[in-house]
Amino acid sequence: MQIFLQGAGLIERLYIREVMIYADYNATAPLRPEARAAMLAAYELGPVNPSSVHKAGRAARAVVEKARAEVGAAIGSRAEDIVFTSGGTESLALAIQGAVAGLDGAATLIVSAIEHEAASKAAAHAGVPVETAYILPTGQVDLDDLRVRLAAWDRGLKGTPILVLMLANNETGILQPVAEAAALIREAGGLTVCDAVQGLGKVAVNVALLGVDYLALSAHKVGGPQGTGALWHRAGAPLKAVLYGGGQERGLRSGTENVAGIAGFGAAMSQAVLDLSRYVSLGTHRDAMEARLKAEGGVIVIGEGSPRLAGVSNFARAGFRAETQVMALDLAGVCISAGSACSSGKVKRSLVLMAMGADDALAESAIRTSFGWNSRPEDFRHVADAWLEAARRTVLKESV
Ligand code: PLP
Repeated sequence: MQIFLQGAGLIERLYIREVMIYADYNATAPLRPEARAAMLAAYELGPVNPSSVHKAGRAARAVVEKARAEVGAAIGSRAEDIVFTSGGTESLALAIQGAVAGLDGAATLIVSAIEHEAASKAAAHAGVPVETAYILPTGQVDLDDLRVRLAAWDRGLKGTPILVLMLANNETGILQPVAEAAALIREAGGLTVCDAVQGLGKVAVNVALLGVDYLALSAHKVGGPQGTGALWHRAGAPLKAVLYGGGQERGLRSGTENVAGIAGFGAAMSQAVLDLSRYVSLGTHRDAMEARLKAEGGVIVIGEGSPRLAGVSNFARAGFRAETQVMALDLAGVCISAGSACSSGKVKRSLVLMAMGADDALAESAIRTSFGWNSRPEDFRHVADAWLEAARRTVLKESV
């Protein structure tokens, strides 16, 4: 049985009794002890509002600014270019709709076909035309198509091109050529919004090297708390607020800051940077798990030849429906996801795999395992054991 929170309290211990193997880090990661400690320390300050001018308010402000520096340092940015938000979804809405507003609507969005709904739906509601950036069967964006499209761009008609491209896909873990795409957009006088929610803490992220204009971040995917995130924006990039009120975060995100959440985010980010090589080393165990599932279970690994996050494996066995696999593994005490985790808990055919050209049979049977900062080598073996056992009882039995 896996104990993923050292020094955990009663609630976590009860939870651990039920959860044996957690392989759903892309849905949310367990809270890191460093984040928990930073949050508790912030709560210990008492009632605090960073906008208050009194001593307690100043103490809260110091906590927020420390975290801003930590998050900034983790992505190679100045602290002042970080805006704290309520998470990845809000950061994407601010970036996409705030950039469009900053350009007075004289823009066309080019959104990759595999973006998370937090990005694609924010784009759909931005009030400007939206085009799709196509995805190759490798799972990566089609740069040639983008190049051709930008060469023929009619700025008078379409305004500024704004590319929305994620760093790493939540379902497949496939990494996008963000720096190359952003360079093309820059040459065409456009802007790039990058959703780094899944890449953060798993690959080195440096805003200058990526060359993007906006970078959306979320705390709970790196072992920070849920309900906290940030938007980095290049100094001078067009950006207008989408929420109005007290004018916090330099007027870009009104609302009293979530001081403890922000403290936890900063601590989680600093630790994630220190742990990066450990995360990358998970790739060896992931590859061994996949090799076994292919040999003994006949699975197809999605995006196997593409650059991927080390802790993510998306695989399919035609005829073995994703929801059946998720339920079978759940009964065996293994937490995984089918496609993207959506709020209703229902399994939808994966749009990401469809965009990659996968057929229905594959898209209906793909599941995602995702490991992270507290995963152990044996977790990969347990997941493979549980999956093969479930497959033997169903689909493999039929095929012998
Ligand atoms: N972008 C990606 C790629 C995600 O995987 C998620 C969450 O699953 C989000 C954005 C939304 O982040 P949050 O849950 O912090 O709103």
